[in-house]
Amino acid sequence: MNKTPAIKSPKAKTERQRSAMRRDLLAWYDDSARALPWRVRPEDRARGVAADPYAVWLSEIMLQQTTVPHATPYWEKFLARFPTVTDLARANRDEVLAMWAGLGYYARARNLHKCAGVIADEHGGAFPNTEAALLKLPGIGLYTAATLAAICFDEATNIVDGNVERVISRIFALDNPLPKARRELRALAATLAAPKRAGDYGQALMDLGATVCTPRSPKCGDCPWQRHCAANAAGTQTDYPKKIKKAKLPIRYGAVFVLRAGGAVMLERRDDEGLLGGMMGFPGTAWGERPEDPLASAPCARNWELCAGELRHIFTHFDLRLSVYRAEIPAPTQDGIWAPLADIKRYALPTVMTKALTLSQK
Ligand code: SF4
Repeated sequence: MNKTPAIKSPKAKTERQRSAMRRDLLAWYDDSARALPWRVRPEDRARGVAADPYAVWLSEIMLQQTTVPHATPYWEKFLARFPTVTDLARANRDEVLAMWAGLGYYARARNLHKCAGVIADEHGGAFPNTEAALLKLPGIGLYTAATLAAICFDEATNIVDGNVERVISRIFALDNPLPKARRELRALAATLAAPKRAGDYGQALMDLGATVCTPRSPKCGDCPWQRHCAANAAGTQTDYPKKIKKAKLPIRYGAVFVLRAGGAVMLERRDDEGLLGGMMGFPGTAWGERPEDPLASAPCARNWELCAGELRHIFTHFDLRLSVYRAEIPAPTQDGIWAPLADIKRYALPTVMTKALTLSQK
């Protein structure tokens, strides 16, 4: 198990309570486990069926910041196109990024491809089978390493994501607000983690957070941990987790230029290092705190028309307001990557650029 901060909390349960909690949660999971395409159900695990680390890894990377219904078609498409991690490693990165388009957080797609390369080249195409070794792979952090090690190799790790934080904060009625409370939450979660059936326990906890102990209306009557839950006893479930109020997102401004020639548009590849790195996009201005003179950044001198309506897109750290300009030339003579509109899905166009294209077509 990765090093969970060794702090003692006065709220920690006794060993007897912890055993009862594990037993209650696993019994609930045996009856109520979600059917997910990458999951081995508890009855099948009991028969010795093992989870496929490649399939679980793909799902976990896709599910970061994305819902199950949104991620599932992507997961199916990736597995059909790249049935093994080595197939993914050998794929052209542009194809991987194009298939990822629409899932957001594009650094994940670059790291996915990089990680597949390391597994294919340095591990003979097999995932390392411990949390410590998984942590050394690109794009695999604490949560993913703990999850893969538990689900695929039954290592007794401490799986803590946003859902688990919510459950634990309610069970212990933790008044320390997030993000400061993260250390204590991890330590409290670690006190409960199951030494046996570690994979089932981790998935049960994630299911509990996703389906029962939901943010706004927890279904405490259906919860296997109801009798162990301090927030339920006090009737204060939705007060947790406590959070330090977030500052409002800063606004950034920018402009993009959609140049058309017949049935094609001109794209450029974004720098690997920056936001939306490696993805395709329209040429444009930098995104800054104040609107600048956009036409000074136009890719060529044309009669640029400002499209009606401002494009808004929320990134994790800022709220973007983008002006979209369009122009048409008779033939694709300008230097750039000319993408036929009929074939635009083959290009790794992130959602914000797809919105710009749509606005330019109105
Ligand atoms: S009893 Fe309610 S608040 Fe407590 S863990 Fe269960 S669902 Fe969440």
